[in-house]
Amino acid sequence: SWLFLRNKRRLNEAEIQRRRDSALLQEARDTSEMYRDFAAMVSHQMRTPLSLIDSAMHRLARRGDAVTASDVAERQGVVQDAVRRMTRLVETVLLVGKLDNRQVRGNLAPAALDALAQSALTEARGLHPGRDIRLSSTGSRIMALCDPLLVAHILENLLANALRYSPVETRVELRVFSQGGQVACAVTDQGPGIAPADQPHVFKRYFRGEAHRAEQGTGLGLALARELAELQGGRIGMDTWPGRGSVFTLWLPAASEGRP
Ligand code: ADP
Repeated sequence: SWLFLRNKRRLNEAEIQRRRDSALLQEARDTSEMYRDFAAMVSHQMRTPLSLIDSAMHRLARRGDAVTASDVAERQGVVQDAVRRMTRLVETVLLVGKLDNRQVRGNLAPAALDALAQSALTEARGLHPGRDIRLSSTGSRIMALCDPLLVAHILENLLANALRYSPVETRVELRVFSQGGQVACAVTDQGPGIAPADQPHVFKRYFRGEAHRAEQGTGLGLALARELAELQGGRIGMDTWPGRGSVFTLWLPAASEGRP
């Protein structure tokens, strides 16, 4: 009878709702578990620079009046490094929160990608003196429709990875070019490349390569780079050759110089 059919339909609807709820619940559980791991890791990674600062200060204090200028200079480097590391970590965590609350909006305007690459390079050279970091560009302006702050953040992340994961004596190269209505900045390293098993996962939040889990890192760099690129209508490409190196390329929509 119709009563039976109506009840049956209601039951089905209830079942569908129940499944939906349980999937949502599972998703929330997974996320909160991942977040717990992440929070534990961030606290852990804050501890190292904090104890470096603490012991540098401690040693200076112990010397009392006998402290020389070179003592101070030596400790200064350690403290500066530690502060920089913590700042990066905190900035990353804050950025993730902002992205999740949809508080990051790309302010898109035409900007010279070659100039943005040049300043990312200058900053990387300052942070890694002695490393061979180069920029090759076509020599002409390459205009992207982008948010310069977000581009700076992406390039900083890609360069940091290239420098961190490759041997100190190898070269890291930035290349700016345009192709098929798009503009790009490619970061090439001669590092270990990415193992085939890791390749499908490197852009996921919190993922860390098998070989790098013991090192400093958040597993957020590439995930954020991808999210920030997509916010600007761009993307990140990856080409990697295990044992030989990787190329990570930021692609952005081109802008003509005359455009407002
Ligand atoms: P993190 O570097 O903090 O681990 P990322 O999201 O930046 O997080 O990178 C995820 C993983 O991808 C790294 O743990 C590393 O294994 C691998 N990876 C990223 N960039 C490179 C690179 N240039 N060369 C080799 N491996 C890389």
